[in-house]
Amino acid sequence: MEHIDLSPWRVAHNTRFSLGDIDSHPPKLLPTDEDALAHQIKKLSDKLNKLQATLHASRSRSVLLILQGMDTSGKDGTIRHVFSHVSPLGVRAVAFGAPTDKELVHDFLWRVHDKVPARGELVIFNRSHYEDVLVTRVRGLIDKETCTQRYRHIEHFESLLHDGGTVVLKCFLHISKHEQKKRLQARLDDPHKQWKLQPSDFTDRKLWPQFMEAYEQALAATSTAHAPWYVVPADSKPHRDLFIAALLVQTLENLDLKMPKPSFSLSDVRLD
Ligand code: ADP
Repeated sequence: MEHIDLSPWRVAHNTRFSLGDIDSHPPKLLPTDEDALAHQIKKLSDKLNKLQATLHASRSRSVLLILQGMDTSGKDGTIRHVFSHVSPLGVRAVAFGAPTDKELVHDFLWRVHDKVPARGELVIFNRSHYEDVLVTRVRGLIDKETCTQRYRHIEHFESLLHDGGTVVLKCFLHISKHEQKKRLQARLDDPHKQWKLQPSDFTDRKLWPQFMEAYEQALAATSTAHAPWYVVPADSKPHRDLFIAALLVQTLENLDLKMPKPSFSLSDVRLD
């Protein structure tokens, strides 16, 4: 499969940008034909499966994929689809909800550090420490100065992970407000999906411009060389999955991991 250049969706460090200028529809370089799309996703899934097996066996590096986005942007769906062919051995998904009382009496990274991948692991964060500079900022739970301080703490934290051999990838699942309306309506209409709805889905939707501004600032402040942010066009679910699978495959291929050698001489083995 030809290489997909994802660099146009990478956020530049400390450079102001507007999410309104980035299309939430699939980029033209991805296939539109359903069969071609399914074929590419299958090929990437197979590759991801093999690469993750090598990551797990070699136990030298680890990968942390952070997923952020508005409600219904597809964080759960991405985890379900992109990792459907990957062995559960060495893969973990962690969801971060509102902090508990115990978590609230610690610094905001305390609960997060405990969940980062060990060597050989691939961990996906469904929401993350970024909530602590997003929802908290929008709801006025922290002031601007604390938020700026937290950007700095996040940068240091992620550079600690990077220096320890963890590849940190961060994806903002970018949907339009119109697409969210369709998805919320689908949940309201489907008794099997209603359980997913929370009152905050509707209150946060009313604060859409404030959330977009908080995302623009947080992404620009924390998209570093060692932990870049990607704005993933996510109005189309298969294209979103293809984008993230391609990003993971390219990242893992760049690590050039090798299966480890056996720890003893195989020529001495005699099978009876
Ligand atoms: P999701 O919406 O991701 O499917 P939930 O329905 O459990 O999952 O919602 C999680 C909620 O927890 C979201 O509204 C999110 O904004 C909130 N949350 C997560 N982390 C924090 C945090 N650090 N501070 C405040 N709220 C948070």
